[in-house]
Amino acid sequence: MSDKSSKIKALQATGLMRELMGGHFRELDEAARTRDRKIAWCTSVGPAELLRSFGFLVYFPENHGAVLGSSRAAADLIPLANARGYSPDICSYLTSDIGSYLAGRTPLQKAFGMEGVPRPDILVYNTNQCRDVQDWFAFYQREWGVPMVGIDTQRSLGDLTSDHMDGLVAQHRALIPVLEQVSGRKFDLDRLKEVVASSYRCTQLWKRVLQLAAHRPSPLTFFDATIQMGPAVVLRGTPEAEQYYPVLIAELEARINAGEAAVAGEKHRFYWEGMPVWGKLRDHAEQFAGMGVCVVASTYCNSWIFEPLGASDPFEGMARSYTELFIVRSEAYKEAYLKRMIDLYAIDGVIYHDAKTCPNNSNCRYGLPKRLSDSTGVPYVTINGDLNDLRLYSEEQTRTQFEALVEQLPGRR
Ligand code: SF4
Repeated sequence: MSDKSSKIKALQATGLMRELMGGHFRELDEAARTRDRKIAWCTSVGPAELLRSFGFLVYFPENHGAVLGSSRAAADLIPLANARGYSPDICSYLTSDIGSYLAGRTPLQKAFGMEGVPRPDILVYNTNQCRDVQDWFAFYQREWGVPMVGIDTQRSLGDLTSDHMDGLVAQHRALIPVLEQVSGRKFDLDRLKEVVASSYRCTQLWKRVLQLAAHRPSPLTFFDATIQMGPAVVLRGTPEAEQYYPVLIAELEARINAGEAAVAGEKHRFYWEGMPVWGKLRDHAEQFAGMGVCVVASTYCNSWIFEPLGASDPFEGMARSYTELFIVRSEAYKEAYLKRMIDLYAIDGVIYHDAKTCPNNSNCRYGLPKRLSDSTGVPYVTINGDLNDLRLYSEEQTRTQFEALVEQLPGRR
């Protein structure tokens, strides 16, 4: 049997990323202790740029959810939220995070010396991804009595019409008076334009990172990308995010120039559709590497590419960016998008993750995988699992399904 872990190449840039992410968390912790800067909690595809323009430090609870999943702390914490009446069937980021709060423990304490998650001055959501985020923030609104505002976005959208856009831009603008009151600062359009421009540059860099995986062999795996996306998610709109990605890109380009692959001896290229199984990233990376498979791309990591932030009007840029997302769109849009990804990345097989507690990011429930496979000839497999709740995941069954997909590939039968 081959040494599977030796087939995974570590990225050197990760050291810098950890430093920058550490700085982000320590800054939040300091502000939470001293109350010398205001803190806003924001959903992962919420209006972070607008919040930063008011000087808020921005904290993303979904990032904490992913930390709880990847550290495998979630299983012990979810039951605490269940006991408070939050169903085991709803978002396990939500139940992990609320469980973490109820238990008074988080991996952030050990990793960054934080007291706990930083208490917010305001909670700001966008329902573009799901309703769970609103209910999640409402828990803390009740708990701490802090204001909660948000943007209500329609879902399952085909084309975005001017009516959609007018409503969404108006909702973004309507946040301004509340943000002025909580921050104690007047709205500054020039500052917003600067932050949006920075976020746009970050998005362009992140897109470049992901597109390098189109090279054969790929210098990057989906599993790497789930880690490397940290700055694009939590630091977008800051100089740190712009500082990081050129370093990562240079390393990936050097790999390409040297003919180095992320998975040594890359034989097959897969696409991951749906949420990661955070507590199993390493196991999955090793299993695929052991089979000569590079999972080169994913909808999940692509979801932090916000092209419309380049628009001349920052409100239009934000409104369009946070509504044109894959998760917000219709089945027909999703099918066409995945077809483009299969072509762009020369995909041999698609893995669909049916995440029990996230129907919003499980795109295998309405016939899409079969339609796409019929039209492209690319085989697929659907695994049943979850983003954080590993009680909903079967190691053995998943392993067998991954192997079965490889066996279906031409030349393997
Ligand atoms: S999209 Fe899914 S994982 Fe993300 S917050 Fe909503 S339910 Fe949770």
